[in-house]
Amino acid sequence: MFEKGYIDENYVRVSRDELFSFVVRVLTKLEVPEKDAEIVAHNLIMADLRGIESHGVQRLKRYVDGILSGGINLKPSIRIVREGPSYALIDGDEGLGQVVGYRAMKLAIKKAREGGIGVVAVRNSNHYGIAGYYALMAAEEGMIGISMTNSRPLVAPTGGVERFLGTNPIALAAPARDRPFLLDMATSVVPIGKLEVYRRKGKPIPEGWAIDSAGNITTDVEKVFSGGALLPLGGFGELFGGHKGYGLSLMVDILAGILGGGTWSRHVKNTSEKHSEVGHFFMAINIEDFLPPEEFREKMSRMIDELKSSRRHPDFERIWIHGEKGFLTMQTRLKIGIPIYRKVLEELNSIAESIGVEKLKAGGEDGRA
Ligand code: NDP
Repeated sequence: MFEKGYIDENYVRVSRDELFSFVVRVLTKLEVPEKDAEIVAHNLIMADLRGIESHGVQRLKRYVDGILSGGINLKPSIRIVREGPSYALIDGDEGLGQVVGYRAMKLAIKKAREGGIGVVAVRNSNHYGIAGYYALMAAEEGMIGISMTNSRPLVAPTGGVERFLGTNPIALAAPARDRPFLLDMATSVVPIGKLEVYRRKGKPIPEGWAIDSAGNITTDVEKVFSGGALLPLGGFGELFGGHKGYGLSLMVDILAGILGGGTWSRHVKNTSEKHSEVGHFFMAINIEDFLPPEEFREKMSRMIDELKSSRRHPDFERIWIHGEKGFLTMQTRLKIGIPIYRKVLEELNSIAESIGVEKLKAGGEDGRA
């Protein structure tokens, strides 16, 4: 059974269903409508199931803080500002990013079903979790799905030392024979959540992920949190293409921020603050309007098969396809439970205690759920 990441005795297993109902009971206790709480729970738990620890339930505290501080509007009137047959602009009214994002992608899919393509830009939203969640919604409908969001400034542009760009992720999902292709990535070398995982574990970060406040490459995670910055995809300078990650990040700000009448990452704020001004961009492409869906899936699968059987480097056990590790990890975790870092479990249970809901039940003696 394949599983992404390094799971040791510092983790406990929790079943998917228990984790789901825990997130829902916390959010509904804070007066999030049940359907909306379920959308957020699906999004966070999909991250944990697919091995994206940085964007799973370890983020719940941030949303709880955002709700308690009034930074998130629990009863938003999410409205279409303007629309045409193939596009729409949505105002999220500062609702939970997952709820706004879910509705926006549903609309993009509907428009694609009717007219071949659906593009939805969103302004006034909040942190929406993993970008891949929304792209996969379209792939489940037999479409190509694209999803992007801007986020608060954490990344220095090539040649700069200031936090200016967001980690602005891009996701594209497309159906194939066995499982969808899913590219889902930050436009920085790593998202900030990965540094939080290292910080929690008290480990130095690999060289090349980030700089300190003076612009020196650092492995000291505390230096990054106290005034340093992440590096764009491709890393420091131009040698390994840092300028390309920098450009991809701006591409996200143009589509997810400026196009919707929102802003760019430098002005985006934390979910716990009011008017965080997060923007999203969604696109759905109805494959059957371009070619027979079977032909698309067949070509996708042939491409993947060819890639996987191409000549492999001796240092690697296999050639992976985007979305494959996440899918296999999900299958494993649905069987044996989701690993939750003990400190995260403590944090989740102290939230439960403080608001008066039942604590999260971890697995049995062998750590299995
Ligand atoms: P990763 O570097 O973990 O993975 C990026 C992509 O590469 C995934 O599609 C992954 O698929 C794939 N992949 C991994 N290894 C291989 C390989 N050897 N060969 C081929 N494909 C491979 O992602 P990031 O750390 O950059 O991002 C993590 C998450 O953080 C994303 O879900 C992103 O949406 C989210 N994020 C959200 C932000 C927000 O503000 N909301 C900001 C930044 C990031 P697989 O799933 O199979 O591993």
